Amino acid sequence: MFRIGNGYDVHRLKEGRRLILGGVDIPHPLGLDGHSDADVLLHALADAILGACGARDIGAHFPDTDPRWKDVSSLLILKEVGKISSGRGYSIANADTIIVAEKPKLASHLPAMKMNIAAALDIAAAQINIKATTTEKLGFAGREEGIAAYAVVLLSENNH
Ligand code: MG
Repeated sequence: MFRIGNGYDVHRLKEGRRLILGGVDIPHPLGLDGHSDADVLLHALADAILGACGARDIGAHFPDTDPRWKDVSSLLILKEVGKISSGRGYSIANADTIIVAEKPKLASHLPAMKMNIAAALDIAAAQINIKATTTEKLGFAGREEGIAAYAVVLLSENNH
């Protein structure tokens, strides 16, 4: 009746890229590098949803060799993943996520990220939780070499 999935993603920080997290364009001297907009939060969340419905991962559905996904908003990817999940007969019960970034401060952007995710998945903002943490300057995130995100999702089967 219930299915759980988790997701994890990392992208490298570099100059000359926008920093997009949860579909929000955040002012910062460094942005995340990748084939799409490199939105680690949405990638981790999309992977958690695919994992929960037993549908492999975003690399399988949205390969970075496919020009269709070059520089697209990851909100589109998340929306597609939401359709895969609902197509298999599942509804999202809730999602809990963590962004791991030394900088910038993200607290003021979390409500907008929640709204974006809720809209893309056609669920209520109250079903999404987003946390942000630093690693106390330890490791790649602490050295500001990259940003990571974790997500856990619970799906419920529609006919139960
Ligand atoms: Mg990614």
